Formats: sequence, structure tokens, C-alpha cells
Amino acid sequence: MSLVDPAAGMGSAAAAEGGGVRREPLRGVRGMNDVLPAEQWLWRHFEESVAAVVTSYGYRQIRTPILEHAALFLRGIGEVTDIVEKEMYAFTDQLNGEYLSLRPESTAGVVRAVIEHHLLREGPQRLWYSGPMFRHERPQRGRYRQFHQVGLEALGLPGPDVDAELILVCARLWEELGLRDLSLDINSLGAMGERAAHRQALIAYFEAHRTLLDEDAQRRLHSNPLRILDSKNPQMQQLIEGAPSIDKFLGEVSRTHLARILEHLDRRGIAFRVNPRLVRGLDYYNLTVFEWIAPFGGKAPLTICGGGRYDGLFETLGGKAAHGCGFAIGVERVLEALRAVIPVQPDTCDVYLVHQADGSDLAAFELAERLRDQGLDVIVHCGAGQFKAQFKRADASGASYAVVIGEEELRAGQATVKALRDASVPQTRMAADQVAGYILEHGYAARP
Ligand code: ATP
Ligand code: MG
Repeated sequence: MSLVDPAAGMGSAAAAEGGGVRREPLRGVRGMNDVLPAEQWLWRHFEESVAAVVTSYGYRQIRTPILEHAALFLRGIGEVTDIVEKEMYAFTDQLNGEYLSLRPESTAGVVRAVIEHHLLREGPQRLWYSGPMFRHERPQRGRYRQFHQVGLEALGLPGPDVDAELILVCARLWEELGLRDLSLDINSLGAMGERAAHRQALIAYFEAHRTLLDEDAQRRLHSNPLRILDSKNPQMQQLIEGAPSIDKFLGEVSRTHLARILEHLDRRGIAFRVNPRLVRGLDYYNLTVFEWIAPFGGKAPLTICGGGRYDGLFETLGGKAAHGCGFAIGVERVLEALRAVIPVQPDTCDVYLVHQADGSDLAAFELAERLRDQGLDVIVHCGAGQFKAQFKRADASGASYAVVIGEEELRAGQATVKALRDASVPQTRMAADQVAGYILEHGYAARP
């Protein structure tokens, strides 16, 4: 088997015109974003907050592969869903004919791994994951083809206590991040029998209004009528408003389950809205479903987190019956909300090492290693150049100090320390082995 570069023709055409080969620049895949260095502080801030908060509730991290057998998602998410019908990056592996898919979400993979490695034999599992997901959607604000999710899964626990715990984790995370004004919608999808009765009522209702259904809804009318409630088509919203809602069909057990969660939320002072129309895009939910929505000022609100209980998933994936409840956060959407509430943190380092003398790079590298031994972050100027140009780089690096090795310093085994952001620190020449102490003593403006 050999692979072909479909853009190769352009390069050779350019070459034929004479001169050097000037190739068309390749671009990233539509809907898949680069996260550039200037944005990393925001991602890291979010990731560190998540790790701290979820660990404080006893959740342990799991990493599963980005590629899985497509069958996992066909079974685990359900064949009559947006994801499986239109959004999966599924393909046949050209090397061995396996039918694979980039993961559109992670719950199915986590549950597969838990079954495969018999993790529930050790008792209930509180797990979390973080990573890229792939869905072939139309790219727009808050909707990308590669996006990231952080999710928690509480496995082997029937709830309602752990359902409430998961919502509390979210609330603490939003608090930690400084995100306010989020709203929480919650609902119960009931137990199997209740869902079946609701389903019959939905089919009857939508059949009576068949002419108002769009193409997707017509197709799903009998296979997955619940999904019609989740339609984003504005022309169908009025019809959906009038549809029979699940709350009329809930039995005592389902009601009590939901009520207990709401008590927990009340006790913790978390505001919520019971929304009987809330259903989720994935097939495997029962009982609890919830969503957190961020307002975004003038812009349209976005759902930043969705979750719920999925007690049927283990069996669907061929495992022994087991309880499961979890949620996934859309990271890009949370970061969009975060940008509005926290100030930009420019990149910084502690020291930029400027040097200009024959062989000064050797002394500069040696001194830099000594400073790093003391916990300082140091950029050594590379590529030689005039002092003036080097100082420009030092300034742009955000460093608190420039440490300078010129001809004289080199000869004397010294360095000059110049504070770049704090005029009260005198510029001083000193023995190279005193530099770290001097900087630590005077502190760094960039670091509190
Ligand atoms: P929607 O109804 O908006 O399509 P969904 O039901 O498909 O959402 P889930 O599968 O529950 O979403 O994913 C959980 C969260 O992941 C969403 O609430 C959202 O924040 C985020 N998310 C889902 N799809 C995308 C995407 N294509 N790009 C960015 N974030 C996404
Ligand atoms: Mg979707």
C-alpha cells in the first residue's frame, strides 16, 4: 500500500515555473484548532483546577485510546443518534481492515476499559478523564470537529447520592474557576418501563403532527422519538414544546431518586431548574440527566457540561450489569467563559541570560544551569548578536531579570544582574555563584 499526497501536484507546477520550489502551505483540518503558546496558561489553569477539585472527591484519572473499534460507539451511543448517524470519524484501517473510529466521546471507552480490566471487582470506581474528542459537525462558535472534554464517571453506585455528588463536583469547580451565573437544569428520564410508556405517547403525538416533522424527525419517529425532543431545528421548537413530557410517566422510585438529588442541591445551596423537557444527545441515559448552561453576556448561552445516569451501558457493551453515572465538560466552551472573567496572564520567565564575548555561551550555559538548580526559570540567549538586540529579546520574554556576561564579566568569573521590571533593585556586578542568591533575595516582580 502506498499513500499519495493530493497536494503534491501544486508543488511540482510551481517548480516547473523555474526558481526554487515554492509549495502551497498546508493548512490544519477545518474545525480542528491549534492551541498556541500564548493560550497555554489558560488551559493549564483550567486543567490544574480540574485535577485539584476532582481529586478532592476521590476521583482517579484514566486514559483510554483516542481510537476504538467503531462498534463500541455504534452499540454504546446508539445507532439512531446524531453522533453515530452523521458525526463519527469512522474508517477502515488500510493496514488490517479493522473498522475504527476516533472517539466522539469518552464514556463508552471508559466503560469498555473498566469491563476489560475487571475494575469493578475492586469495588465501585470514581474515574475522570481529559482529552480530545472528534465529531464531524458544522464548525461554529463552541462547536468544533476536534474539541476537548473533561469527564467524570462514578461506576458501580446506584445513586441518588453519587448523582448529587457529581453535580457538587461541578459546582465546586465553577466556584474554583470563578465562573458565576451558570444555570443548572435537571430532569429524570425514568426507568425502562416508564421510558417505554413515554415513548408510545411521543410517537402518538408526533404521528398526529407528522407534516410538521423535519426529515430527521420523520426518520426517528419510530426508532428514537425521544431524540426528536433534542432537535435543534427552530421550526420544530413549538411542536416540541407541546409534546408529552416524561414527568407524567415517572413512577414512585424515579420520583424519589430525583427528589433526593434535589435535597442534596438545596442543602448545598445550588440553584437548579427541573426541566421536564431536558433529554440528552446520547442514547444510554436513564433516571438522572442534567446540564450546566453558561450565559455569555450578549452572546447566545452555551451548554458547557452535560451528564446523567446510564445504568444500561455496561450490559449494552457486553459487561455484567452495573450502575454508572457521569458527566462531560466541553473544555473550549468553559475556556470561552473563563476568558471573560480572568485577566490575561502574559508568558514570563525569571531570567534572560544575555552574553557577548568570545566563548561566553559556555559560561552562560553553566550559570543558567546553576540558576535552574535554585528553581529559577532561565532562557539563555542563543544565536549571538549585539547586546541591544539581546536586551530587546530579554524584555519581550517577560523575564524579571537580565543576567549579563560580557568580556569583563567573563574574564573575572562574574555576571551583572539587571532587574527589568523593578527600578528599586540596583544593577550590580557580582561573582557568578552569587547571582541566584541575589535574585532570590530581591524577589521577582513577575511572581508573587
Ligand atoms: P449538543 O446538543 O450541543 O450537540 P451534545 O449533547 O452533543 O451537545 P455531549 O455529547 O453531551 O453534547 O457533550 C458534552 C459537552 O461537550 C457539551 O455540553 C458541550 O459543552 C461539549 N461539546 C459537545 N460537542 C461539541 C463540539 N462539537 N465542540 C465543542 N464542544 C462540544
Ligand atoms: Mg451534539
